[in-house]
Amino acid sequence: MQVVGYDTREEPALLLATAGAVSRQPLSRGTELAYALGERHCAGTIEDGSHHACERPEAPYCPLHTTPWSVASNRDSEDPHAIYLAAFAPRTFKVGVTRLWRLDARLEEQGADRAAHVRTVPDGRVAREIESEIAAAIDGGERVRVATKIRGLHRTVEEGRWNDLLDDFDPIATFQFEYDLGLGSRPVVATIAAGTVIGTKGRILALDRAGTAYAVDLRDLLGYELLEGTDGRALQASLDAFE
Ligand SMILES: [Zn+2]
Repeated sequence: MQVVGYDTREEPALLLATAGAVSRQPLSRGTELAYALGERHCAGTIEDGSHHACERPEAPYCPLHTTPWSVASNRDSEDPHAIYLAAFAPRTFKVGVTRLWRLDARLEEQGADRAAHVRTVPDGRVAREIESEIAAAIDGGERVRVATKIRGLHRTVEEGRWNDLLDDFDPIATFQFEYDLGLGSRPVVATIAAGTVIGTKGRILALDRAGTAYAVDLRDLLGYELLEGTDGRALQASLDAFE
């Protein structure tokens, strides 16, 4: 059984493939996960609900299965695009663009705490130009690393700074997202699939194990073979590797 994808929206789940069949391992709060990680290799492809395995050693994807579709389609798309600002606790701000109809999904995928839709433009090319201008003006990049998001996982957004930023843009709409992770301190970064689910925030999975909170980037699980029903020793070994 291999981790071949993840779904971070309404019902967060890991997508697991066994002999071509894809199943969902829910990641809702309170779910107990008890997998140890085995070998990691290319996650292959999913087409029409079936998984095509790939044994190449590169992970999460080998060159053949790496599809830079998001970059290409945004850049060349003639659909209307939204330009948005997003805030990640406590004070990381970014500008981004997405096709207008994908705005809500895009903000959730990223695990933004706050966001504002600031412009709508006719195509992806114009959107990229304005994105670059805004990035330079607000001194906040176009990419926020997952490690940065994890560092602020137990924090809240600094309202004053965020509101000051919005004052310059007269937003079309603003968004506030609640993840209710209830973390008292910064979680330990790990690549594990064992523990009690606290919640998800974008592609970050928060797990509790023996009173310690762990943060897992779901992308880091892509491609791993999962070993089910393993004894405590195997689970502990995969935890020890990151402590
Ligand atoms: Zn491959």
